Amino acid sequence: MKSQNFNPKYGFNTQSIHAGEPHPGSKNAHVAPIYQSSTYSFANAEEGAQVFAGEKEGYIYGRMGSPNTTIITEKVAALEGGELVRRKHATGDKEFSVEAHAFSSGLNAITTLMLTLLKPGDTLIAQSSLYGGTVGLFNNLLTKYDIQVVWVDHGTLEAFERTLAEHSHAKVLYCETPANPTLEIVDIEGVAKLAHAHGIPLVVDNTFATPYLQRPLELGADWIVHSTTKYIGGHGVVVGGMLVSPHFKDICEELLSNMHVTGGVPSPFDAWLLNLGVKTLPLRMDRHCDNAEKVAEYLVQHPKVEKVWYPGLESHVGHDIAKKQMDRFGGMISFELKGGLNAGIKLMDSIELMIRAVSLGTVDTLIQHPASMTHAKVPAEQRHAAGITDGLVRVSIGLENVEDIITDFDQALAKI
Ligand code: PLP
Repeated sequence: MKSQNFNPKYGFNTQSIHAGEPHPGSKNAHVAPIYQSSTYSFANAEEGAQVFAGEKEGYIYGRMGSPNTTIITEKVAALEGGELVRRKHATGDKEFSVEAHAFSSGLNAITTLMLTLLKPGDTLIAQSSLYGGTVGLFNNLLTKYDIQVVWVDHGTLEAFERTLAEHSHAKVLYCETPANPTLEIVDIEGVAKLAHAHGIPLVVDNTFATPYLQRPLELGADWIVHSTTKYIGGHGVVVGGMLVSPHFKDICEELLSNMHVTGGVPSPFDAWLLNLGVKTLPLRMDRHCDNAEKVAEYLVQHPKVEKVWYPGLESHVGHDIAKKQMDRFGGMISFELKGGLNAGIKLMDSIELMIRAVSLGTVDTLIQHPASMTHAKVPAEQRHAAGITDGLVRVSIGLENVEDIITDFDQALAKI
């Protein structure tokens, strides 16, 4: 059942609060209730048959969606695709629309998409520097079903172009920008053109940037993946995922049927929590960026720090591309200590305010060591090729007073 959906005249902040709301079933409740029901009833047999046949809007069963997933998917579709829809409609393409679907985790969203776009015998080209779980999915599960994965070691246009020329039969191109944990930047517009010249879709994981900072569909990407666990949820209380695309109509039936048979959908409560999170996404992202810019400047001048990866620094190899495709540079920083692995362990053990934890995009600052945590299962050779050294430390900068984050770094770095 469609909600009010997005009104193209409103800007991003307004969409993040109002798109998808009110849901028609909300009965004037100011905030949409949690529709905590596993199944839905029909007025009579005929209505049941019509809803099942897709001739009438309505909910059937929790695995196939709920009013809470409708609200959150319409909201994220408006944020990722609203401007693109507006532009297409202005040029006369009134049929153009962007849709989103919610999953129980980011990895479930990626799995469902890959199982829909690829079949045994196909080839997937992917950037080497990806979230470790995504690498695991591609290396272990997809290859088991005879899908070949070709890794691009450096996410430059030249590397993608060369790999595509060597594997011209590839069926999907996959990237993550900024990438986890190296903060590698991929030129979305350039790679989308390469993919389209080969007649294949480009999938972009937009988890680190969020639609507030970067909208890959406007740059030519075909599919967006989100781990909504991160900035979209924003408070560290939900594990979730999302797919956003203008192509749902083309493969909708297959994708939805894969989604319904694999069953990785969010609960109504999780979708409700996500919706609360999105409403403050713009405010949170600006503070994440403000704080991260200051912390990156502090780290870069620290004598015990070897190298800092933050796309906002002019020294970052992807800075110019990031400037072109992102509104700001995000809240994620990775850095390498001069003392390598042992210095990294000492730092992790010395922090007082920051939280030692994986995940990211929460209100508090989280710090982790990819080689022993999120990317521990990525083969060492592939990890090193992707720039994930044993001494790399990754920080998700939170919304605290930035002076307090810097003071914590100061006292911890002094102990190394
Ligand atoms: N994509 C990125 C960039 C991630 O960082 C993560 C998780 O950390 C995922 C996808 C997977 O998301 P989830 O943990 O929600 O399954």
